[in-house]
Amino acid sequence: LQQTEEVEVFSTPSYACQRRTTLDNHNAVLTDALSLLAENAELSGEDGRGVAFRRAAAALKALPLPVTRLTQLGGVPCLGGHSLRVIKDVLESGASPEVEALRRSERFKALKVLTGIFGVGVKTAGRWIGEGILTLRQLRDSGPTLNRAQRAGLRHYDDLNRPVGRAEAAAVAAVVEAAAGSVLPGARVTLIGGFRRGKQTGHDVDFLITHPEEGREAGLMPKLVSWLDSQGFLLYQKTNSNSYLEAAEGPARPASNMDRFERCFSVFKLPEEAGRGGAGAGGEGGPRPWRAVRVDLVVSPVSQFAFALLGWTGSKLFERELRRWAGHEMNMCLSSHALYDHRQSRYLRASSEEEIFAHLGLEYIPPSERNA
Ligand code: ATP
Ligand code: MN
Ligand code: MN
Repeated sequence: LQQTEEVEVFSTPSYACQRRTTLDNHNAVLTDALSLLAENAELSGEDGRGVAFRRAAAALKALPLPVTRLTQLGGVPCLGGHSLRVIKDVLESGASPEVEALRRSERFKALKVLTGIFGVGVKTAGRWIGEGILTLRQLRDSGPTLNRAQRAGLRHYDDLNRPVGRAEAAAVAAVVEAAAGSVLPGARVTLIGGFRRGKQTGHDVDFLITHPEEGREAGLMPKLVSWLDSQGFLLYQKTNSNSYLEAAEGPARPASNMDRFERCFSVFKLPEEAGRGGAGAGGEGGPRPWRAVRVDLVVSPVSQFAFALLGWTGSKLFERELRRWAGHEMNMCLSSHALYDHRQSRYLRASSEEEIFAHLGLEYIPPSERNA
């Protein structure tokens, strides 16, 4: 039986922000392998290599069908020699020896476990591994000094490593809306991050809060946090008034606006209602009355709302690609606060995400298609 098989050759634009990437990934086996290599690079402090693998995985996520042959990838960008080798191995034998070895590696497993503790970054985990600490048990036994975030992270380790579902996200949203409505009537709460992109689960729940009257949002975060705390909803919180200023680069930083951009990393104590999230929570002791959930809160003035919304909806790679596109292709500087046009030497205003895409010369991509 001889049949000439039609094999589609894929082609896709080179920036993730030019592509529509839904959650419907037809190449999960390949992208899982590449994502694992990305994760390992990031956990080893090799961010450049990490981004290269993330870009390769993202290019494959955007394809309309499963890849079956290497020859289909001629028009797919961002695939370096290393990524192509991994793809070839997976296509030919179902797995990449390098990726499988990594999955089994003690160092990788230890890095994952230790950085899985909220508040523990790559550097701390690396130092502990150097001291022979590879597991949570060894960490608890050898007792290095932990900061407040790490103590909360270790205490709630299981909860914080259990995915948050949409129903739980909705329950957190109801609490945040009650808090915002109580301390600042008229405040608007928007679900951002992965849930806004349509994900069914997340590692946390992210919210952006604003008020339609410019300036009314000033000083909101401390009030919000103290309301939540007084109602018993907070297991941990750290409020940061100007962290974005430190992280941002380039001139897209209107200094006067910066000090108002507040955010809070927290751990919520979320009551477990009957019929919600019970599975996995109970164990022998039956369902628990509450679980810990990571929650991120961001407050933005309404004039910056569209930029904050775009900047905090993700995915992380999509955001990175938007900023790269802005800089390299448009001579602009994009942040979660503003868009600065170097050619015109001025800020470009926007009150919707659609306007920002238009300023950037990009077709509008809705949140559900930003899952790069
Ligand atoms: P998950 O479902 O795992 O939570 P997520 O896409 O919501 O996935 P987050 O880590 O919660 O991932 O990040 C949400 C968004 O917030 C991302 O788009 C990211 O760009 C933005 N973000 C996260 N941390 C920072 C930060 N330190 N500074 C600026 N933006 C950030
Ligand atoms: Mn999130
Ligand atoms: Mn988050």
